[in-house]
Amino acid sequence: MSPKISRRQFIKAGTAAAAVLAIVPASSILKIGANRNGEKVIVIGAGLAGLSCAYELNKAGFDVTVLEARTRPGGRVRTYRDPFADHLYAEMGAEYVNSEDRFARKYTEIFGLNILTAKLYDGIYVRGKKFKMADFQKLKQTLPYEGTTGGVLFGQEKKYIQHWVDEISTWAELNSVSCMSCHEFGGQEKIKNAINLNHLPQKILDLDQLSVAGLLRKEGAPKDIIDLYTYTNATESTGRPETLSALSLVMGHFMAGGFDEETDEGRILGGNDQLPKAFAKALAPKVMYNRPVKKIAHDPSGVEITFLEDGKLTAMKSDKCVIAMPVSILRRTKITPEFTPAKMHCIRKQSYGHVMKIAMQFRRRFWDEPGSLGQRVFTDTPLRRVYHFSIDQPGPRGIILSFTSGAHAEKLGRMRIEGRMTVAEQSCSEIWSETSRFWEGGVSKYWNEDPWLRASYSMNGVGQKDFRGILAGSEGPFHFAGEHTSTHRSSMNGAIESGVRAGREIIEG
Ligand SMILES: Cc1cc2nc3c(=O)[nH]c(=O)nc-3n(C[C@H](O)[C@H](O)[C@H](O)COP(=O)(O)OP(=O)(O)OC[C@H]3O[C@@H](n4cnc5c(N)ncnc54)[C@H](O)[C@@H]3O)c2cc1C
Repeated sequence: MSPKISRRQFIKAGTAAAAVLAIVPASSILKIGANRNGEKVIVIGAGLAGLSCAYELNKAGFDVTVLEARTRPGGRVRTYRDPFADHLYAEMGAEYVNSEDRFARKYTEIFGLNILTAKLYDGIYVRGKKFKMADFQKLKQTLPYEGTTGGVLFGQEKKYIQHWVDEISTWAELNSVSCMSCHEFGGQEKIKNAINLNHLPQKILDLDQLSVAGLLRKEGAPKDIIDLYTYTNATESTGRPETLSALSLVMGHFMAGGFDEETDEGRILGGNDQLPKAFAKALAPKVMYNRPVKKIAHDPSGVEITFLEDGKLTAMKSDKCVIAMPVSILRRTKITPEFTPAKMHCIRKQSYGHVMKIAMQFRRRFWDEPGSLGQRVFTDTPLRRVYHFSIDQPGPRGIILSFTSGAHAEKLGRMRIEGRMTVAEQSCSEIWSETSRFWEGGVSKYWNEDPWLRASYSMNGVGQKDFRGILAGSEGPFHFAGEHTSTHRSSMNGAIESGVRAGREIIEG
């Protein structure tokens, strides 16, 4: 049986299967070190992808410059501290580091950071009904969604697509190929016969032309199953069942094996921002902040990158360039001459969802008191995931975080901050009656309005099964990093994996 994988890995599964052979083992991180003195490389973007790439290139003796549009490192890793009292903080971007996130864990170890284990859901609030997770798992209550099985929250759609999963398993057995999770998540060395998505039978590949909602409807799933999917895996993907590829759903279930809700998650104790800050400190003078790149040009003599510096357009030349900015911004950047048509198509079309985090400060941690539904509640309210974040701090104050996505994030995103907070307070009041008594205020971060992202993170859109591989491929002096190029897409781990991979491409020349 395949090892268990986490929900976040589950949502990325289709992508991961597409290019298993391109994976860089985390164990090789420190081994790369060919010295190519003086060769100049510009890295665009000081998110984890750009930083990890620059860090490895710098170590290998390259002359690296990182151009970053913001005045801080980390991109989508964003820890807020100032808005809160009592040294409280909140992750407004990337949060969880899973037990299998080998790249993220390797570098947290290198920089002496610790991972704090975070708890999973202990409550459910859907369609106005409240469930204690423990009671729900003991089958004392059932979900108010037609067609569901008792005791489990995630994966309710599986029985409707089981025959597709079985077909892949049979094919894999006949062709002596292994489930890639054996390599990816079992910590083994690269295996020879891992599944390459493009070798699957055509009728399975054709599922990429269907959406999750389309396939579930075709397989006779009730509308409620699709509705529930919106709040389970589609929430993590930041998309909608209508926009996510059915192939990635089926591959996710094939790879997930013993998938359940008990996988360990964690986050960096004291704030995830410590990781990009540690990379950036190691590179200090080589990172240039407040330098948004406007134009990427190249000719046989090399690369020329034009960026804004003190309000003026400035050009910098290099031998090589690593593009580690999100494609949602790259598609708004002038590229001359353009990359290959296939690459340009993916840059323009790569799907992203909508995502918002809301951090709410309360004077008392009433969610831990008797009678509370719990401190980590799965909901179908506009806040979707609602959970106590400040578990590593003593209280009495505490922060409840909301991770919301898809149509709910989009709708909240159209509101002003006051409107968002009214919805947040009302939704929390439905879960905990003490909300208004102890509410002190909140902040939100809607990533789709962030000028250097305008998106969430990449997702498996319908018809996009080949996108990741195309986006990751180097072209002439250009190498590409960023979560959207990684088999571990939409994660910090994937961003780092891609940065290390792009660095290796240059080092190995
Ligand atoms: C709300 C939210 C929750 C998440 N939750 C998790 C989670 O729980 N666990 C997890 O592992 N991951 C999570 N992620 C995903 C994770 O944050 C990303 O996959 C990862 O941080 C992406 O890193 P990156 O380097 O590829 O991109 P980014 O972090 O976006 O970095 C790209 C950098 O490029 C810069 N840039 C953009 N345009 C330009 C330009 N024109 N010129 C120069 N620089 C430019 C940006 O400012 C940015 O610093 C979450 C993301 C969000 C938004």
